[in-house]
Amino acid sequence: MPEINNPVNLLELTPVQLKEFVKLIGEPASSAERILKYIYREYAAGFTEMSDLDSSLQQKLAAGADLGELAPLEELVSADAQTRKVLFRLNDFNTIESTIMFFKNPGSGRERRTVCISSQVGCAVGCRFCATGQQGFVRNLSTGEIIGQILFFLRRFRDQMPAPVKGKNRAWLTNVVFMGMGEPLANYDNVRQAIAIINSPKGMGMGFHQVTLSTSGLVPQIRRIGAENLQFQLAVSLHAADDVLRDRLVPVNRKYPLSELMPACREYAAKTGRNIFIEYALFENINDSVGEAEKLMHLLDGLPCSINLITGNPIASSEFQPSSREVALIFQKKLIAGGIRTMLRVSRGTDIAAGCGQLRSRWLGQRGGDI
Ligand code: SAH
Ligand code: SF4
Repeated sequence: MPEINNPVNLLELTPVQLKEFVKLIGEPASSAERILKYIYREYAAGFTEMSDLDSSLQQKLAAGADLGELAPLEELVSADAQTRKVLFRLNDFNTIESTIMFFKNPGSGRERRTVCISSQVGCAVGCRFCATGQQGFVRNLSTGEIIGQILFFLRRFRDQMPAPVKGKNRAWLTNVVFMGMGEPLANYDNVRQAIAIINSPKGMGMGFHQVTLSTSGLVPQIRRIGAENLQFQLAVSLHAADDVLRDRLVPVNRKYPLSELMPACREYAAKTGRNIFIEYALFENINDSVGEAEKLMHLLDGLPCSINLITGNPIASSEFQPSSREVALIFQKKLIAGGIRTMLRVSRGTDIAAGCGQLRSRWLGQRGGDI
């Protein structure tokens, strides 16, 4: 067996790469299938749980690999128990946060479970209403750190999964959204590799419609995902329908103004045949007037899209306050009357600092830095 100095985090590897790794350590490629099953169907927390692997393979794995376990520092559950947020410590003592949300449709009884994951420590875009944006940029997450967030929740709940859906990620975990900390398209390669693992039938086995990636609007990367035909649902955080306001809310707009972003979205929709989600957080007296709704309708004219409105999450010492529900309903009605499918989402877990980056901000505030 070749000398492996740094343990390989198996969560960094696509199923094909894992097979190569297994061959590299002198084991038959077929063992990779069993390891994959343990990681992505049984949610094994360690190699000792992989009981039907030969002991020699288990020893080699224990010596040269790990399963990228993330260390939870703080775990908060909302009063209604439907949202759980976790602050993780990474190996270099940086921190990130992830959330799981449980939904039940009162009519159909259909359940959804959504994990919201981070792609970076901090974020360079610096949106003024966003807790992560106020932290500045620290570093990109590795593929293993991205996948590790999802597996944490699968491991956490594995004993509570009903038998028919246990081991079927598609069925238990219905959605993965890149809406935690960071700008996923600024960490393109690691996010792309993570999505390959999430989509792979031998990895997490989830379909493209189950994965949503939200971006502040990095135009070259939007063009690139269209060209590469990557499989996921794209969401664009618009929040404003003209450049003056958007420059103020989402500073990357100064680099990629609406005159570049909107054609890139149209090109993406035409190339992939997919609908785009437009994210629009409503802030009081900033972007929530009927006039702004009209501008938005005009801007989106002819783009295959649906709008997700959310009343903004207030962050500490911010001039951005959430719009009232009444104002949000008027804004929604206007858009629907203009023929655009528009959902008004309820902000989840506000009692546990569930907005993107809020828990880490609180932690940084208490500690004066990462630990
Ligand atoms: N960086 C990416 C993805 C992470 S943020 C992006 O910006 O799209 C996920 C979503 O939360 C984005 O739509 C973002 O604009 C929104 N968001 C951030 N802070 C918010 C706040 N205080 N209130 C409401 N939405 C917020
Ligand atoms: Fe970054 Fe998104 Fe927050 Fe803007 S909203 S600062 S892009 S994480």
